[in-house]
Amino acid sequence: MSGIYLHIPFCRQKCHYCDFYSVVHSPEQEDAYVGLLLKEASLQKANMKNKTFDTVYFGGGTPSLLSDKSLTEILESLYKNFDIKKDAEITSEGNPSDFCVLQKVKFFKSVGINRLSIGIQTMNGASLKKVGRLQTVESNTNALKTAAEIFDNVSADVMLALPDEGIFEVEKTLRIISGFGVGHISAYALKVEEATALFENVKNGLVDIPSDDAAADCYDFACEYLKERKTLRYEISNFAKNGLECRHNLNYWRGGEYLGLGAAAHSFTENKRYENPRSIIKYRDGLLKGVLPSVNVTLIEPDNALYEKIMLGLRLSDGINISELNKEYKINFLEKYSSALKKYEKCFKLVDGKLSVKDEYFYSLNSILVEFL
Ligand code: SF4
Repeated sequence: MSGIYLHIPFCRQKCHYCDFYSVVHSPEQEDAYVGLLLKEASLQKANMKNKTFDTVYFGGGTPSLLSDKSLTEILESLYKNFDIKKDAEITSEGNPSDFCVLQKVKFFKSVGINRLSIGIQTMNGASLKKVGRLQTVESNTNALKTAAEIFDNVSADVMLALPDEGIFEVEKTLRIISGFGVGHISAYALKVEEATALFENVKNGLVDIPSDDAAADCYDFACEYLKERKTLRYEISNFAKNGLECRHNLNYWRGGEYLGLGAAAHSFTENKRYENPRSIIKYRDGLLKGVLPSVNVTLIEPDNALYEKIMLGLRLSDGINISELNKEYKINFLEKYSSALKKYEKCFKLVDGKLSVKDEYFYSLNSILVEFL
């Protein structure tokens, strides 16, 4: 399976915690950037001629800022240059301030987007302000309502362990989202990254972040709450109703190939990882010379590839298929990793040849993975 990722690096303003690559949006920059994306897609055409794509994912940044014209041009270029399956999952991330507009949501549907992923984060206005999100609780509510009316497949991003939030606030957020029948939720704990405004605010005592234990409690609560509503964890931070798991991200976690287009986008094909420059200017410079802009190309050696498959696969509730790994890497998995399996015996389960981490030990996954290095 293969997917296409497009990075749309524009936002209205920088959220305090964000370390993704994005710049402040302007219509002029957007026009120029779309021209570059089209150029990159046409240059990649020859490299991708033997591949069929199952998914397309507009991420960012804020893809919902794209004008109708830009979105149409990008999609036309993708279909012109690449073999995209008829039943492909086509997702766009977006901000509630855009997806609360009925006309916008209808337009996204009309051009073939069939899955929306909305950055709700929390239904508490004070928390939204503390982390520098521009949207309001009202736009969150309207976006959920509008998206649920027009799309069958809607995902909401939720942040756990936001400043001054605990289980009470998480329950409110999940209750409102679930009330709109949203079938997929991604729930990540807030991370304080260096060189962000949040890092400075925490350092200067302006914002309080919940402790690791409190964050773990929120996570456990979210898992239970969603399970009761048949929205089951299928990856450490992702929950879905049956059949609404994100196919694009499942491809990453299963070690599938993907093509990344745009500044800061990554690709993985033929055991090589490619990385585009984290700067629109540098991304443009390569393309204007008529060459692909990748800055780092890394060959993934078989040992690293195997570790990546284990690391990503154990994030999934489904786990890893041992006989497939044995065949692909010519190993005896149970023998090769016998000490790790013994040390964390109580954390694993083996069902139908698939090894996975038991629900109650998911939070310790990082420590478990060290043993497979
Ligand atoms: S909207 Fe998303 S990408 Fe943009 S600044 Fe906020 S967190 Fe970062």
